[in-house]
Amino acid sequence: MVRSLAALAVGLTLIAASAAPNAPAAAGPVTFLPGSEGMGDPYYPLQGNGGYDVGHYDLRLRFDPDDHSVDATTTITATAVQNLSRFNLDFSGPQISGVLVNGAQASYHRDGQELVITPPNGLLSGSTFTVAVSYAGAPKAVSDATGEQGWLRTEDGVYVASQPDGARSWFPANDSPADKATFSFRISAPEDLAVLANGEHTGTDSADDDGYRTVHWEMKQPMAPYLATLAIGHFVVNEGTVGGMPNVTAYDPSLADESKDLHDFTAKAVAWETGLFGPYPFSSTGGIADGDGSVTALETQGRPVYSGGPSDDLEIVHELAHQWFGDSVGVRSWRDIWLNEGFATYAEWLYQEQHGGPSAKEIFDEHYRKTGGFWHLKTGDPGQAHMFDENAVYLRGAMTVQALRTKIGDKVFFPLLKTWAQQNRHGTATTADFVSLAEKLSGQNLRPFFDAWLYQAAKPRV
Ligand SMILES: [Zn+2]
Repeated sequence: MVRSLAALAVGLTLIAASAAPNAPAAAGPVTFLPGSEGMGDPYYPLQGNGGYDVGHYDLRLRFDPDDHSVDATTTITATAVQNLSRFNLDFSGPQISGVLVNGAQASYHRDGQELVITPPNGLLSGSTFTVAVSYAGAPKAVSDATGEQGWLRTEDGVYVASQPDGARSWFPANDSPADKATFSFRISAPEDLAVLANGEHTGTDSADDDGYRTVHWEMKQPMAPYLATLAIGHFVVNEGTVGGMPNVTAYDPSLADESKDLHDFTAKAVAWETGLFGPYPFSSTGGIADGDGSVTALETQGRPVYSGGPSDDLEIVHELAHQWFGDSVGVRSWRDIWLNEGFATYAEWLYQEQHGGPSAKEIFDEHYRKTGGFWHLKTGDPGQAHMFDENAVYLRGAMTVQALRTKIGDKVFFPLLKTWAQQNRHGTATTADFVSLAEKLSGQNLRPFFDAWLYQAAKPRV
């Protein structure tokens, strides 16, 4: 959920309450206009949609492992932020059988990744509405310059890793990192298969006549759609606690070797990162190891997914650091992706520094010696096709953080990390917000510093 819009909606609801639901106010003519088809992200302009703000997703999905198909209904509760004659969702999933808005049949059509919905009556700004989309068939992953993403098939089921644009492969969404919402999952599968998702396991229904049982998971803190996950298949599940909250990890039995540290090291890393970054932002943690390693690990909220199993302990440190930097403090625009990847990579450096390895400064020095192509993109604006570039975004992002630490000193730097995580908890932020906070806490003019590190395709002077 977008905080500022939620606050606005409270005021507008009072106006809407004086009018009949979904009808123009009696006082005069009310104009209803279409919501925009995107939110204008510089890298993914069609992601997300204008005119409303999602509060909750309810995903009900029945999975048939024989043909990898689903029979699903996603119900979205949202608040209009303009008078809407129609609105869009992002959806590239299988055949739709019907769309209801506030329980009434709505007309719809599909246009590329856009699902365009026209409710029987206009929706007044400030009013809360539901939209339920029913669909069935076999979802397919989305593929673009950043790789395969979304619904990823396995031999015995599926797992989901959707950054940046794959959520629309399996559920209709306002698929912008800027519109966070809570999620409920009601996932049905044959009872010999395990079902995992984000958040807490809140119940399992007994099997029906077909041998399917429904497993309930809840993500109670706001989550961007691309961070939603689901894993169905044969899993070894471990349940424990860390800091009083559930730690649920699972691995495909074929990944037992790669996953031997997953459970205990997840608990260890969360405890260590809580000391550095402040309170863990969600009410449970864990990890899921599945798939063949053909995609990279992803920081799916509260429970990262490790394709092919964790490659090493530092990968677990990285994905869990994203719980603070990327998930709780989300980017509003993909151009700022270094705020996620630079900080998570820097967490790996700090972990090594504090556990008998090289210092973060030594790792920085090793990379700083590099020449040529290492410096050829802009860390703060790498371009859509290069937004996950190892050198420009991960390594030079972490180098930016280390260079900042050197410039402002440990006494300002470590409180800055905690303040950043706390002030933007469960929200979204921009590079400009980070620069402002760093300047405020350090009392230094840091614009030239960040310009050199983020917005030049050249090696900065140190
Ligand atoms: Zn990462």
